[in-house]
Amino acid sequence: MTAQLIDGNALSKQLRTEVATRAQALKAKGVTPGLAVVLVGDNPASQVYVRNKVKACEDSGLHSVLEKYEATMTEADLLARVEALNNDPSIHGILVQLPLPAHIDAQKVIEAISPAKDVDGFHIASAGALMTGMPGFWPCTPYGCMKMLESIGYDLRGKHAVVIGRSNIVGKPMALMLLQKDATVTVAHSRTQNLKALTLQADVIVAAVGKRNVLTADMVKPGAVVLDVGMNRNDEGKLCGDVDFEGVKEVASHITPVPGGVGPMTITMLLVNTLEAAERASN
Ligand code: NAP
Repeated sequence: MTAQLIDGNALSKQLRTEVATRAQALKAKGVTPGLAVVLVGDNPASQVYVRNKVKACEDSGLHSVLEKYEATMTEADLLARVEALNNDPSIHGILVQLPLPAHIDAQKVIEAISPAKDVDGFHIASAGALMTGMPGFWPCTPYGCMKMLESIGYDLRGKHAVVIGRSNIVGKPMALMLLQKDATVTVAHSRTQNLKALTLQADVIVAAVGKRNVLTADMVKPGAVVLDVGMNRNDEGKLCGDVDFEGVKEVASHITPVPGGVGPMTITMLLVNTLEAAERASN
């Protein structure tokens, strides 16, 4: 079997068009959805990420502000900036780009963001809302994975999903989202024994590790859906995921490519969350 691709670029395009339409409707009511992106220091990867986020906002008709600060910025000054953005009515979403310089307590900064503007979904209140099924903001990467499953009309009820990775930003929220849709969820991590025995039982596999070839064809049940969150470099320096794409695509029913899979969906869901924040604020 050759798997069907779940095209993150195509799905993103569709969702971003919907965001632009809803943003227009809000503008007609006098509200322009606004995202503030805060970058501290000059991490090259972070600079690319924030540029892409700001550009995506502009392309979808959202207002965005990029605040760049020197790596020497103090924690107190950053907390003061977050507080000012919390109180700025033109800003509906606040994103502090991680990682932050070592002298700044990243969790403290995240907790300083108003939960109503926590469009990254990293605040403890957002995590609690996800856990209890209350309204809140879902972290963008696993939220994008859920949209990808939705796009193929996949019914998770009673299915066995295996999430490989248990980080607070991908693995754990992914598991909770799948559980909320009535999947039976197994979370694997670096101490998991016999990963292959688990993945071979899975109807859905989400790989979120950050290591190449964590998932190979012999570990996948024929017809399983495979979502690849990982971002790694291969020997030629090209972007690749955690999944051995060439092998697994012959076994899976659906698979996300890297690049062009989960990556573009992450930024798209940031736009969705920002729009949602603006809609909630305007109601
Ligand atoms: P992370 O915080 O480093 O977490 C990685 C997880 O993988 C940990 O839970 C770790 O287990 C587990 N792990 C490590 N080796 C393993 C192994 N051999 N078998 C099973 N599990 C193993 O990473 P993250 O932030 O979740 O990100 C994961 C990957 O997704 C990275 O490549 C990252 O770049 C990528 N990512 C992509 C996007 C996107 O937009 N496409 C967004 C976010 C992240 P322990 O907990 O036991 O250490």
